[in-house]
Amino acid sequence: MSFQDFGLLDEVVHGVQSMGYIDPTPIQLRAFPIILSGRDMMGSAQTGTGKTAAFALPLLTKLKSHGDLRALILEPTRELAAQVETAFRDYSRFMDVQVGLVHGGVGFGSQRSMLQKGADVLVATPGRLLDFLEDGTANLKNIQYLVLDEVDRMLDMGFLPQVRRIVDRVPKERQTLFFSATLPPELETMTKWLLKDPEQVEI
Ligand code: AMP
Repeated sequence: MSFQDFGLLDEVVHGVQSMGYIDPTPIQLRAFPIILSGRDMMGSAQTGTGKTAAFALPLLTKLKSHGDLRALILEPTRELAAQVETAFRDYSRFMDVQVGLVHGGVGFGSQRSMLQKGADVLVATPGRLLDFLEDGTANLKNIQYLVLDEVDRMLDMGFLPQVRRIVDRVPKERQTLFFSATLPPELETMTKWLLKDPEQVEI
């Protein structure tokens, strides 16, 4: 099957083809129909499998055009967050959607003005996002799509309490996508409160 066969937005297919991708990878073949159908998903793919496009392309298809902050992607590190933001920008280059990035280790000024201008997709590391939630710069009340990426690394880095505080501020009516290379018992418990009847995908 090719990128055209899933009901992805034409602009998204165009964006992907402009990256030189010819065929979807195995995780993309599995994830596109699940995510487009609106179901929660638990994926156990590693980095390098095309995991980012597996969630980015259907989410961009659902977002379609500029509006409220509707998609939140949580990443454990600044580097991963920056990579995922770049991927969203590449795939949405023929669309009118705004992609924002917040992470620690840099000043607050430009991230604050991006949030004030408004983004459709926000890629964030947990600590800095909480700072912006607590000072009222960011709000998650319109989030419809929540992606927790590399959750086992978030656990190793001690981020789970922060992730919980963030998820508490996201509406319960939402689609949640959870990616983790491994599933230690702490994360199994977490998937139970986080996900509703998830489809499982292992690559
Ligand atoms: P990821 O697993 O998301 O880190 O992606 C790994 C690499 O594969 C990235 O450099 C992507 O740009 C690239 N990639 C993702 N999907 C495809 C595809 N369908 N065909 C070729 N390359 C891809």
